Amino acid sequence: MSSPQIVWFRRDLRLQDHPALCAAAARGPVIPVYVLDDERAGNRKPGGASRWWLHHSLESLGKSLGRHRSKLILLRGDCVAGLARLAEETGAETVHAIQHYEPWWKDAEEELTGHCDLALYDGNYLMPPGSVTTGSGTPYKIFTPFYRALSRMMPPRDPLEEPALSLPDEWPHSDDLDEWGLLPTKPDWADGFRKQWDVGEIAAQDRLTDFVDRVSAYEDDRNFPSCEGTSRLSPHLHWGEISPAQIWKALEGKRGQGVQAFRSELIWRDFAQNILCQFPYYPEESYRQAYRDFPWRNPNRGHLIAGELEAWQMGRTGYPIIDAGMRQLWATGWMHNRVRMIVASFLTKHLLIDWRHGERWFWDTLVDADYASNGTNWQWVSGTGVDTQLFTRVMAPLLQSEKFSAADYIREWVPELAHLPDADIHDPPPSKWPEDYPERLIEHREGRERALSAYRDMKGETES
Ligand SMILES: Cc1cc2nc3c(=O)[nH]c(=O)nc-3n(C[C@H](O)[C@H](O)[C@H](O)COP(=O)(O)OP(=O)(O)OC[C@H]3O[C@@H](n4cnc5c(N)ncnc54)[C@H](O)[C@@H]3O)c2cc1C
Repeated sequence: MSSPQIVWFRRDLRLQDHPALCAAAARGPVIPVYVLDDERAGNRKPGGASRWWLHHSLESLGKSLGRHRSKLILLRGDCVAGLARLAEETGAETVHAIQHYEPWWKDAEEELTGHCDLALYDGNYLMPPGSVTTGSGTPYKIFTPFYRALSRMMPPRDPLEEPALSLPDEWPHSDDLDEWGLLPTKPDWADGFRKQWDVGEIAAQDRLTDFVDRVSAYEDDRNFPSCEGTSRLSPHLHWGEISPAQIWKALEGKRGQGVQAFRSELIWRDFAQNILCQFPYYPEESYRQAYRDFPWRNPNRGHLIAGELEAWQMGRTGYPIIDAGMRQLWATGWMHNRVRMIVASFLTKHLLIDWRHGERWFWDTLVDADYASNGTNWQWVSGTGVDTQLFTRVMAPLLQSEKFSAADYIREWVPELAHLPDADIHDPPPSKWPEDYPERLIEHREGRERALSAYRDMKGETES
């Protein structure tokens, strides 16, 4: 009998369209393994919301493997040591894995090659990150030319079918998932998560099927948080329960603005990885040098500002659209994209708080928290990143709320305001301001002026 093949699952928790699994299955009995390695990722280990998702996704993957009479081996600790030990114990020939691009995963992949045979495959992006370049081989820093170049390479390869799996003679030891403590207990804050999400590969496919029927309305609806105009596939994509190639394929034959706009968002996801490939620590500090010394109001330096950060986190800013978004995030682990932009602009411009505080909060609270996408989007909104978005673009939360008809969204997430009519709910008049609703942290005009003045100071300093 041929020697066993290890498949190392990470953010690719699916059986279909999994090139590493297919290659392993073609060579011998498969030992599927997931290693929970919190040390290696350091302060980038999955946050609370991500751990909730991870628990359910691993449970689901284990069940799917059970259909093949296979099982998911769970190990905890350093992934390189764990995989090397597993390979030795089982006599496995090769560790097969889908390539990952976060710096801690790249380091682990490199180290592992010193211990055993590691075969890496592409599979989590439309194109392998780093492969979309200009004619002279330079990677792109701006989205539009990247988008055009990648679009010319589409469609992606056809998705692969779930392979038949043969089993090893003996199964190695596995941890018990329940003992990993990934789920919250005291307090159990995940009630809203359970109501909102079905986790795992089958749920991802169901969500895709449902969305394909709605895609023609995507362009018109996607900016309106009160209606379900977007796919909500982001956590499934982040955890690799579905691949972008599968999504592309499901939209084959669909025409029109909706499908175009949706594909362009999928390409943003590839773009974020392309930025990470060029700047592995992009999510850790402002790309533009000038913003590294920007006069941010640092919460570590003052109680008052720490209180403002907390009010933003808890959805108590006195801006209905912002509070709705932050409470949706806290309750469900997800926030509508338009609202993500508004809350991020408010934190960094109106409150002048360093975007990295917002990025960290999202890291802990989003079920789709993604090193590349989160960092790229935070720097994009803040105007500190590689692209052309300017710090001086200060979004007006009250106008945004009205423009994108957020009344029902606010009613859902800010019950103190639920009784107000559409005309008042975006910007309640003082006479109707509920007693139990917090006062505004800062007026829009004042916040905008303070942000622009800080920007002018910075420019004056950097120009001199
Ligand atoms: C401040 C900020 C932080 C963000 N942090 C994350 C994050 O940690 N993880 C994450 O997946 N997305 C992040 N986004 C991007 C975007 O908000 C979410 O991908 C989107 O809201 C997910 O909802 P959906 O699946 O319904 O999206 P859809 O509109 O249905 O889009 C389909 C898919 O395209 C991808 N996508 C869409 N917009 C973007 C974008 N701007 N950048 C990268 N990929 C995109 C996602 O994978 C998404 O599932 C962030 C945006 C902002 C403004």
